[in-house]
Amino acid sequence: MASPTTFRVDLDAIHANLATVRSLSGGRAVLAAVKANAYGHGLVPVARSIQERRSAEWLGVALTAEAEELRAGGVTLPLLKFTPTFPDELPAALHAGVTLSVGAADAVDEAAAAARAAGTVADVHLKVDTGMRRVGAEPADAVDLARRIADSGSLRLGGVFTHLPVSDVSSGEEFTRAELALFDDVVARIEDAVGPVEWVHAANSGAVLGHDLGRTTMVRPGIMVYGSYPDAETPPTRPLRDVGTWVARVNFVKRVAAGETVGYGRSWTAPRDTWIATVAVGYGDGYSRLLSSRGRMLVDGRSYPVVGRVCMDQTMIDLGPEDPSVRVGDEAVLMGTSGAERIGVEELAELMGTITYEVTCLITARVPREYFG
Ligand SMILES: *Cc1c(COP(=O)(O)O)cnc(C)c1O
Repeated sequence: MASPTTFRVDLDAIHANLATVRSLSGGRAVLAAVKANAYGHGLVPVARSIQERRSAEWLGVALTAEAEELRAGGVTLPLLKFTPTFPDELPAALHAGVTLSVGAADAVDEAAAAARAAGTVADVHLKVDTGMRRVGAEPADAVDLARRIADSGSLRLGGVFTHLPVSDVSSGEEFTRAELALFDDVVARIEDAVGPVEWVHAANSGAVLGHDLGRTTMVRPGIMVYGSYPDAETPPTRPLRDVGTWVARVNFVKRVAAGETVGYGRSWTAPRDTWIATVAVGYGDGYSRLLSSRGRMLVDGRSYPVVGRVCMDQTMIDLGPEDPSVRVGDEAVLMGTSGAERIGVEELAELMGTITYEVTCLITARVPREYFG
């Protein structure tokens, strides 16, 4: 039984995009970000495929629960947790064997105590804030923190990293270059104090695509793995392959007369007699209500506008006045390619006033993910 709506994930495209990452990264290790359900594409299946095909050496998560899910799903690759870890989650995080990010003295002490209690030496990466002003240590405190980690007896300083807020746009080039120079300097001082650090990393997709990666030894892309540029303004230097195709089935076709309105709020009035198809997808699936009377869908290589409000479970498209070729059970493409037509994730993002990251993150749990390639 096919589901009314399905999100299809092309694993070959993920691997091709990771190959592009590698070709841009000059022999550096690759950490693929799989947080947030692999940007909506499915945490464990994506991670397992990356592990099986060895297309990345590390995976990046945001939550302890994500690390636990990966371990339960048979993923043994090293995992870096990007975010700070609350003391009450440390035992579970250490049990999952996740590499922790730390950026403050308290966090170092808490991690050290938890590792001691667990009878292990835990791997940590020191997060330095070079300009995001979110989490992480001030550059001036980084050497002291590195020493604190090295001297703790129960932590190992496996890495040092920063995260770049404007690496993806030309207007951020100077800021990013200055951050990378500052980061290089911090890393040099840390290595002078505590010896060589194995994993030095800064590059998100924007930096992989557009920046000199300096003395870093690993890159940390997310969005480009899933086939998108980080921003509509990112210079498109390399082709990426589309990964996700989102489809839903037509569940009704009816004739509507000129002057009748379609859907909640009666927000759309038929300008002429026309055929309306209802498609079994709505905002309950993550097809945003912001696409009401703005989006479009493809059936058999033809494009049809969304008319009226997107409902929770259904969305209407205008097939036009001719006797329609579209039938109940046909597949409509909400995102992806049909014949010569394509609706890219960036088109949906633009219409929704957001970035591609959010479009796929919003696809809800009730939409089954299917894998091929
Ligand atoms: C999400 C994330 C990334 C990946 O960023 P993209 O813009 O998706 O390439 C890298 N590093 C950190 C710390 C992140 O949180």
